[in-house]
Amino acid sequence: MILSDLKTGEKAVIVRVHGHGSFRKRLIEMGFIKGKEVRVVLNAPLKDPIEYEIIGYKVSLRREEARLIEVVTEEEAREALVSDEHLQGLPADMEEPRRLGEAMAHVAEERHHSIRVALVGNPNCGKTSLFNIASGSHEHVGNYSGVTVDAKEGHFKFRDYEITLVDLPGTYSLSAYSPEELYVRKNLLETTPDVVVNVVDASNIERNLYLTTQLIDMNLRVVMALNMYDELEHKGDKLDTTQLGYLLGMPVCPTVSRDGRGIPELFDTVIKIYEGADDRLARHIHINHGAEIEKSIKRVQRHIAYNEELKATYSTRYLTIKYLEGDKEVERLLSGKPNIGDISDARADEMERVEGIVGTNMESAIVDAKYAFIQGALAETYRKYQEERPRRTITDRIDAIVTNQWAAFPIFLVLLWFVFWATFTIGQYPMDWIEAGVGWLGNAVGSLMADGWLKDLVVDGCIAGVGSVLVFLPNIMILYFFISIMEDSGYMARAAFIVDKLMHRIGLHGKSFIPMVMGFGCNVPAIMATRSIESRKSRLVTMAIIPFMSCAGRLPIFVLFAGAFFPGSPATALLGIYLLGIVLAILSALVIGKFVKDDDLPFVMELPPYRMPTWKATWRHTWEKGKQYLEKMATTILIFSIAIWFLGYFPRHADKSAAYQQEHSYIGMVGKAIEPAMEPLGFNWKMDVGLLAGVGAKELVISTLGVMYAQDGEQYEGMGDEDDTALQAALKATVPTAAALAFMVFVLLYFPCIATFVALKNETGSWRWAILLCLYTILVAWICAFAAFRIGLLIWPV
Ligand code: GDP
Ligand code: MG
Repeated sequence: MILSDLKTGEKAVIVRVHGHGSFRKRLIEMGFIKGKEVRVVLNAPLKDPIEYEIIGYKVSLRREEARLIEVVTEEEAREALVSDEHLQGLPADMEEPRRLGEAMAHVAEERHHSIRVALVGNPNCGKTSLFNIASGSHEHVGNYSGVTVDAKEGHFKFRDYEITLVDLPGTYSLSAYSPEELYVRKNLLETTPDVVVNVVDASNIERNLYLTTQLIDMNLRVVMALNMYDELEHKGDKLDTTQLGYLLGMPVCPTVSRDGRGIPELFDTVIKIYEGADDRLARHIHINHGAEIEKSIKRVQRHIAYNEELKATYSTRYLTIKYLEGDKEVERLLSGKPNIGDISDARADEMERVEGIVGTNMESAIVDAKYAFIQGALAETYRKYQEERPRRTITDRIDAIVTNQWAAFPIFLVLLWFVFWATFTIGQYPMDWIEAGVGWLGNAVGSLMADGWLKDLVVDGCIAGVGSVLVFLPNIMILYFFISIMEDSGYMARAAFIVDKLMHRIGLHGKSFIPMVMGFGCNVPAIMATRSIESRKSRLVTMAIIPFMSCAGRLPIFVLFAGAFFPGSPATALLGIYLLGIVLAILSALVIGKFVKDDDLPFVMELPPYRMPTWKATWRHTWEKGKQYLEKMATTILIFSIAIWFLGYFPRHADKSAAYQQEHSYIGMVGKAIEPAMEPLGFNWKMDVGLLAGVGAKELVISTLGVMYAQDGEQYEGMGDEDDTALQAALKATVPTAAALAFMVFVLLYFPCIATFVALKNETGSWRWAILLCLYTILVAWICAFAAFRIGLLIWPV
């Protein structure tokens, strides 16, 4: 009996809940668990939803939802009391209601122990053989497709379960092209087997897994029977079935259905999955179809999910993917929906958009993405015994070079080097132009306005503030231009793949590497680039350690200090600083990793085929990133720049020198106030003010120090080496070497800069994380600078 058939006032006990994963999960959370008693509060024939009472709560369920819950009614229990031997053994003096309760519970338990298992797989993968050997029946086994035309059912007892095994026709996919495919699909969705056994031919695994990816979309309970395992072993191939199972989110059981090896283990696993006994056995994964298609899926799915009644029977993600593929059956299903207009408009839009970017139509783009997923999963788990590949595709040939164990890293490094060279060398030109333009604009506006704080606010606060954001735009766009080419061509996936093992050692992911390296250029785009990392944990940790990658903005400070204080070996000092950043990044990854909730489940790194990137797509990505940078960063940064300007400008001492103004401004006061805290590092208050200004942007450290040492500079001119600048000479005369070293260390590590802070806030989605991370960097900076100062004092005593 199903729950929706119960009438008002009737009671029943739950046997099981059918349907796909997220639906079942929701119902289980509401208390619809096997063995629980449920009572109908109100079920009028035309009423929807129906009201129920379960474990003392009232809940309402749609008719479609209640239809998927199997129950035992009182009436059925009464019949069982008469016919069932076990129940006749109940004590005679037991009261009627308790007796009935016992009977319901008993029947529910018994029925719960009868499971329906469907065999799904490609033609000729050995389904019928598996069916025969497990159920003991003798279906005809053939070696050509089309032998099994409709479903055969067999029954057998396994452990204390009654298993109904259904042998479905073989299909390569679950599209609606052939009658077999439609039949299998209908069977999976309408008669809802409790567990699906996906039979996979291990000797032809890549093609077989395509069907698996579609089962994953449907979000059913699946166990994979990796059949013909004998052939795989015979060929000498190696397959890490545990890891493959993790990656696919389902248990993988090697079987040989010719001689029955692995079959008992297969059904043991089926039962475990059915009972939901072990969370580690299965997890719900989404196959990543790439950023663009995922965006389309999200958009169309929102419209489809608007039709609540669909959610009981179908995973809306599955429906969406099928609808995007142009599936006729799904189109028919959706055609009667009130918002079909919105749904089909969204699809038309998205199809055009994705075709414009990817260059192929939506359907093949989805198929490609699925194969990229399979390639990635197999690349991590499958080793062919010998490379006997008669038909090598272009992708294979390119891969043979770029993922070659000797050539992979050099090629990768050369490419990276080139990208950085282009970003910063070519980027320098537009940067200069923007700087000049901003300077010109400042002068022009300045000459139009009367002197006073308003003019200074507009020129030094607003225009200069916006300018300091704008100058990075060329860098960001050039960097993204190349990244987008590497991504669209398919190379980026390989790059992530070759560093994956290395990154795993520090608890990160292959995809963390590129953002980390980008951090050497500018932390802001680097943090934005962490979006490609699916695992929340890896992403958070990657973002957290990017600030330790010394960005280009910090370089002038190191150059200045290294030149002044370590004239013999400035390069060594620079390298040492960069290395310190990297070491601390690694240590921090290990430490922070301990505090972030672990979701570091393995993800498949898709390996798409190589493809020529299109100009249109490349330009679009580049432009989008540039826009994102300006939109998300600009407003907040502007506010912060004005704040920093304000702190340095007030209280006003217009008649005094610039250095006097700095010293007696709010920022100077703060600098002096924190002096005691910074004293152990050997810093004087001028250096503290420089550091405070550096909170705005690291470039400001030098210019602020320049202002404050301006007068002192004259005094020390000529005292240092001849090619020292005035500032270097002044610093050398007043700052001990050990303190200079500590200062470099502090600059490397402390509060990244406002733009990075805002990026952290935007990408983590929380101020709390951004603030915590900044506090963390300041703490680390202080401790390391202190250590550097103390050690420095031993080498260069004052
Ligand atoms: P179906 O089309 O999926 O139902 O596949 P069949 O059960 O009809 O099997 C197709 C062919 O594969 C038959 O010749 C089987 O004998 C053979 N076969 C099935 N399972 C195995 C296996 O585990 N190992 C090997 N080597 N052959 C198998
Ligand atoms: Mg068959």
